Amino acid sequence: MSIVSSVCCYCGTGCGVLIETEAGKITGVRGDPAHPANQGKLCTKGATLHLSAQAGGRALHPELRTERGVSRQPTSWAAALDHVADKFSAVIREHGPDAVGFYISGQLTTEAYYVFNKLAKGLIGTNNVDTNSRLCMSSAVAGYKATLGADSPPGCYDDIDHAGVIFIAGSNTAFAHPILFRRIEAARKANPALKLIVVDPRRTDTAAEADLHLSILPGTDVALFHAMLNVMLWEELIDRDYIAAHTEGWDVLRATVREYSPEKVAPICGVSAADIVQAARWFAQGPTLSLYCQGLNQSSCGTDKNASLINLHLATGQIGKPGAAPLSLTGQPNAMGGREVGGLANLLSAHRDMGNPEHRAEVAALWGVDDVPATPGKTAIEMFEAVKRGEIKALWIACTNPAQSLPNQALVHEALQKAECVVLQEAFADTETARYADVLLPASTWGETEGTMTNSERCITRVHAAVPPPGEARADWAIVCDFARRLLPEKGARLFPYADAEAVFNEHRESTRGRDLDITGLSYALLEQAPRQWPFAEGSDAGTTRLYADGVYPTASGRARFHNAAYCPVSEAIDARYPLHFNTGRLRDQWHGMSRTGLVARLYAHVEEPLLSMSRSDMERRRLKDGELVRVKSRRGSLVVKVAASDELRAGQTFMPMHWGGRFMAGQGVNALTLDVFDPVSRQPELKHCAVQVERVELPYRRAIMRRGDGASLLRRAQPFLAHFDYATASLTGRDKTVLVFQAASVGPLPEALVKEMDVAFGLDDPLLTMNYQDARRGIWKKARVEDGVITGARLSGETAAQDWLKDLIAAGASAMDVRAWLLAPVTQPPAGGIGRGRIICNCLDVAEPDIVAAIAGGADLAALQTTLKCGTECGSCVPELKRLLATTPLAA
Ligand code: SF4
Repeated sequence: MSIVSSVCCYCGTGCGVLIETEAGKITGVRGDPAHPANQGKLCTKGATLHLSAQAGGRALHPELRTERGVSRQPTSWAAALDHVADKFSAVIREHGPDAVGFYISGQLTTEAYYVFNKLAKGLIGTNNVDTNSRLCMSSAVAGYKATLGADSPPGCYDDIDHAGVIFIAGSNTAFAHPILFRRIEAARKANPALKLIVVDPRRTDTAAEADLHLSILPGTDVALFHAMLNVMLWEELIDRDYIAAHTEGWDVLRATVREYSPEKVAPICGVSAADIVQAARWFAQGPTLSLYCQGLNQSSCGTDKNASLINLHLATGQIGKPGAAPLSLTGQPNAMGGREVGGLANLLSAHRDMGNPEHRAEVAALWGVDDVPATPGKTAIEMFEAVKRGEIKALWIACTNPAQSLPNQALVHEALQKAECVVLQEAFADTETARYADVLLPASTWGETEGTMTNSERCITRVHAAVPPPGEARADWAIVCDFARRLLPEKGARLFPYADAEAVFNEHRESTRGRDLDITGLSYALLEQAPRQWPFAEGSDAGTTRLYADGVYPTASGRARFHNAAYCPVSEAIDARYPLHFNTGRLRDQWHGMSRTGLVARLYAHVEEPLLSMSRSDMERRRLKDGELVRVKSRRGSLVVKVAASDELRAGQTFMPMHWGGRFMAGQGVNALTLDVFDPVSRQPELKHCAVQVERVELPYRRAIMRRGDGASLLRRAQPFLAHFDYATASLTGRDKTVLVFQAASVGPLPEALVKEMDVAFGLDDPLLTMNYQDARRGIWKKARVEDGVITGARLSGETAAQDWLKDLIAAGASAMDVRAWLLAPVTQPPAGGIGRGRIICNCLDVAEPDIVAAIAGGADLAALQTTLKCGTECGSCVPELKRLLATTPLAA
């Protein structure tokens, strides 16, 4: 067995991993005890990375189609890239360089990001290169630049251990950055005086842990932060010396926040004035570490939200000291690296500004080109709008899935349909975007590629290939360089001469010389020894843990700037027609559009299917029960989904995880509903809020198909059938064996031809292998596939009461005799004892909710649960949920 160190490819915590391989295959993964971000720990997602590597579903060969409406055919790399080069050349010749665009990803390595940026801005001469980081971190970037002068997060993870107060705003850290939350739990255990304040409209597992939860109404963060500053002013809790010595703009802001008294703001935010006062006092007392994420970023005033929070740090001098800093949590593993190389439509390499002629000249000189274009390119939403209008004709998408992840999916799908040429560079073959690709370029992915990534605390880690990529897949950076040399052979060869990823890194490193993120002291050799934080200038012995300790900021005056913004409400207010707030966020065990986690059956165990969460009171008012179907509708689209009551939500609010796209449910997924209005500075869309209506849907005829086999291939087979239904979902279940669960509902029985087609697709058509029960009068039809006495599939039509326990039996490889009597009888209820295991709370050790609840009812506390059931003893991701169950489960009488 070989072991190679690398980094987790999911969230921006940036946990180090040790990849175990045997015979060229990834066989296991462990947390790297030597990595400073996680010290050996991994969450459920990181701990199953090896399963995702084994799951299949990969793009293995270049594919090409020369006309729409036909299938892509396998081709050679040379033919695929020559075709794309010809196409891009023709478009550029005829319509200019701005008629092409590149939409890339915060999951690329810094090296791949660097060459994409250089390809667009240096070789082609367009700034139309933007990334899914636009959906994630661009408001944080704009907030830092507006106040501190540079996109340089000042704090570090060690600050968790030094903080007196941790202020979490707009982040369900327990789910989205679990290993950081473990660190917060440990810090609180070591220091019981440490206060945790959480600002979130939902009572998430993170909020449930807080000493003070400010359950604000959506989008009211700026009003809250101003009210906290108002209290600080009123009670003389500000640091006047720091303000005088290191900041500017205070007088203007002070005049603004005088209007934001806690009493005035309380009804705006929907929290009490007393809680605002308490939050302000604790914050000012410090040392305070603020951690924040999409609740602030994904907003039409995300820049103001970020900057108003930083105002609080500047006003109290809570910055540049141990335990005191604003620290934005990065959503993606390398959103930071992308920003370092300027891989966004309005940035240039090494945090240079596109609008600055000197900066443009510096970049042009570094690259050896005459100039780089001055006009900002199209940002994510604008890029797809331009494609739809026909201004951008050729679009290259890399390592991201806009047909699932962008808001207002109707527009995105229309744009992809309209584009003259869509190139998709992707590791996974079946994403929602893949069906629009005219050219599919198979890329390497986690465990197969070399490079670097930077996490939320500016820490750069070497990314290593543990195995070669499968099939003909190639490293992202190498694909770009090959294309560049075909597009403009002479110039391409001169600008893209790299022999390996290290050569790209060395050029990027040189571009940072003298900049705030100077890494001229770093090398691959040094990074092999340990991850390092930037800045790390030539001659340094170590990286810089905390920025701005001297109170000097990278602004023209050297002073930080207070940001003066008025509170603006959400872009789409609720009204009589759309009376409910709709919010999106992450699940604990899934990541982004599920291209990778969606292939690992056990990652569905915590949440099995798409659900709309509503408050109990809203459900009662609408006479809705758990599991009933509702149509959720916004001004942009609608979807049909099961509804579930949630105690996390206030009345008037709904929530749906961000992950579910058209590959896993009928329609275009959650982002059919969301809003593409964006922040005027950061251009980040308001994915976290829109207005919806919810109404019951009567689709009484339910159907469920369960089939054991290869998850990726079963999901692929399920895909075309989703479109036949208003309500349908496709998901996986199982632990060691994978079972597809396809659910659908319709007004009545389906046409016979469709039933037959589905039976054939899922191997339920062979009379020699299937047991059958049909009650035509009642419309009930059950089928089970039996192989060697073991049940390997089933189809339930007309009544699906057995679905939960039957899927568990299929996953366990149970004997067909166990279900024979039930299957061949005209009963609608499962046999005695036929109950599903229920939701899995502890994914590592496979412990289900009913077992935990029973133990708690019997008197178990957390320690007893951990001793008897072992839940929460491995990665710890379920500990907040165990605590919540302990707090809400009554003891048995
Ligand atoms: Fe990966 Fe989990 Fe660490 Fe994030 S917290 S980097 S998902 S292991």
